[in-house]
Amino acid sequence: MGYTLKNIKSSPFEGLDYSYITSDFGNRTFYNDVTKKYDSNFHNGIDMTSGTNIVAAATGKVTGIRNNINGYTTTYGSGNHVILYHGNNIYTVYYHMKYGSIKVKAGDIVKKGELLGVKGATGYATGPHLHFGVEVNNQWVDPKDYLLGKKIIPNYGDIINTEITNTNDIKYIVKRGDTLSAIASLYNTTYQELAKYNNIENPNLIITGQVIYIPNFKTKNADNNITYIVKSGDTLWDIANKYNTTWQKIYKDNENVIGSNPNLIIPGQKLTIKR
Ligand SMILES: [Zn+2]
Repeated sequence: MGYTLKNIKSSPFEGLDYSYITSDFGNRTFYNDVTKKYDSNFHNGIDMTSGTNIVAAATGKVTGIRNNINGYTTTYGSGNHVILYHGNNIYTVYYHMKYGSIKVKAGDIVKKGELLGVKGATGYATGPHLHFGVEVNNQWVDPKDYLLGKKIIPNYGDIINTEITNTNDIKYIVKRGDTLSAIASLYNTTYQELAKYNNIENPNLIITGQVIYIPNFKTKNADNNITYIVKSGDTLWDIANKYNTTWQKIYKDNENVIGSNPNLIIPGQKLTIKR
């Protein structure tokens, strides 16, 4: 079933330009050694078993981290993990690391090839492996093209566009005769919510050509949650206000990502706004 991928240019394993792949990107059926059942799902990365030390595939900023999962759990499927932001809405993820092995912290800039942690089997994993994933514009893509250098994971800081855009938003351009409430009903929301989201003081005053951002409430998980990408200058309080919730609730739902200090959120971090 597995195969060896050779000539890797941007390896997530220290000192290796190849890796044995046990599970490829895409739809799959697999046997779960723990639950003793066959399972099928969309596999949003590739599972790599060669190597021990996990390193950054490209220079990135740490925007997500978890280091406190011990052993098998389906609740925290990714186990101990590191998420790196590389700019241009490109992220790489490193899942199932060994408990306590992660040495980087949120906000760190990690150079290509620098150590992130050690391969493990934490989370939803039946044996030691690295689940490596690449996310571009909120879509999981096949990491192999990036590993082989056919497509490039930018090094954070090297590229022109480090600006983070919330790609879940829909951009609506106001047409003649539009009202905010008519636009809102098109997208299953309210004019109050749109006014708040777009900092519109007078909801009766929108003009032709104006751009209205529609927060996209339907994520690909179809769980009705919003994925919000932190931008520079954001506070939890601001974000909570936008979505008619409280900063305490957002913090509670994202403690895994934010860590112990709710005042410290980092541009590029992905927060889940539960509705
Ligand atoms: Zn995997």
